[in-house]
Amino acid sequence: MASKFQAPRGTFDVLPGPGRARARLEAVAAQLFARAGYEPIQTPAFEDTDLFERGVGKSTDIVQKEMFTFEDKGERSLTLRPEGTAPICRAYLEHGMHKMAQPVKLSYGGPFFRHERPQAGRYRQFHQLGVEAIGSDSPLADAEVIVLLSDLLGELGVPGVQLKLGSLGSLEARREYLEELRGYLRKNKRKLSKEVRERIDLNPLRAFDADDEGTREVMAGAPLLVDRLGDEDAEHFAEVRALLDAAGVGYTIDGSLVRGIDYYTRTIFTFDCDVLGAQSEIGGGGRYDGLIEQLGGPATPAVGWACGVERILLALDEEVEGPGRDAFVAIAAEGQRQRAVALTRELRRAGLSAEVDLAGRGLKGQLKHADRLGARQVLILEEDGSAQLRDMQSGEQRPADPGNLVDELTGGES
Ligand code: AMP
Repeated sequence: MASKFQAPRGTFDVLPGPGRARARLEAVAAQLFARAGYEPIQTPAFEDTDLFERGVGKSTDIVQKEMFTFEDKGERSLTLRPEGTAPICRAYLEHGMHKMAQPVKLSYGGPFFRHERPQAGRYRQFHQLGVEAIGSDSPLADAEVIVLLSDLLGELGVPGVQLKLGSLGSLEARREYLEELRGYLRKNKRKLSKEVRERIDLNPLRAFDADDEGTREVMAGAPLLVDRLGDEDAEHFAEVRALLDAAGVGYTIDGSLVRGIDYYTRTIFTFDCDVLGAQSEIGGGGRYDGLIEQLGGPATPAVGWACGVERILLALDEEVEGPGRDAFVAIAAEGQRQRAVALTRELRRAGLSAEVDLAGRGLKGQLKHADRLGARQVLILEEDGSAQLRDMQSGEQRPADPGNLVDELTGGES
């Protein structure tokens, strides 16, 4: 029955069965965020293109290659959001959240869009869950958000998770280091890939991410930012580590860790999952103390992360069983249809999951369907107004009190 239409390249349908694992993940995350005081925020699926150019950074892969950008009818350039932090900072400023008690702790989830080469774990429309703590420069905030992601992955039961931690220092301190790195890259120019060579001026840090052998060899001997941190940045980083130690969250320090977004300062981190293939990063984030100012607001320190819902689901590779039904109302005679519909509604209002046949099946077919749905009880409405209650597990059937059918099914608890 396939038609010529298919979901666009790099996108996918979430079907009811796999949708249950996704719903469980979202429910676990929502509860965890609520317990930690990260209130939900939602921003639009698209924003002014300029927000991402400024926020994410013009030199990044995301802005240079991966954005779905279009013009609206008023010739304004808009972009489907490739990430959530810049929009949330935009909303923070637009709604004067800097006047609220700081930090403002927010959580979000939803679809994001990047024009990447599709493969397992990499899509053009994917979903992220994330948190932001905006308005605190304390290492306590860094540690809190990192612990939160660690707990989320732990509660979900994601196997083989490893936390990598790095620090990029403050923007000022980084400038000096970047010059040193550029010098080093220029000196080794011949061994670098063409792409890295072309970006020495624009974005030298990305050389740490390259996967060609020549560049990797060069980068193995490159100066590292974690070894060049100023006193305050080093102290900040040490405290984040001490807090994670105290919380019992294991990590490794990775001096070559970089992230594909320009706004990070100081702490950065990734959670990798060793059961995933090439796309092993399951979540990551860091501190972005310069972003809000960059967007035209007051200097406002902040830290947050995002994790990929599809990658978590791939790593979990689990099937969540359907919920079954508390009751199925079977119509033994046409004349009982109205009663069946009214009763099903009553049962649902009483808090039960209940279904009625919508396909005009005969009684035998209805019982079969009830079984397929995992109904625990079936109420059979007979032609003469009497009713039978059938326990689907034991197969036992007994007459039910037609005046008290809801009570019969709820065990009188409604
Ligand atoms: P980022 O916003 O790049 O820091 O990504 C945060 C998380 O989103 C990553 O760790 C991935 O789990 C997920 N992610 C990023 N890009 C994609 C994509 N194209 N497809 C699926 N998941 C993605």
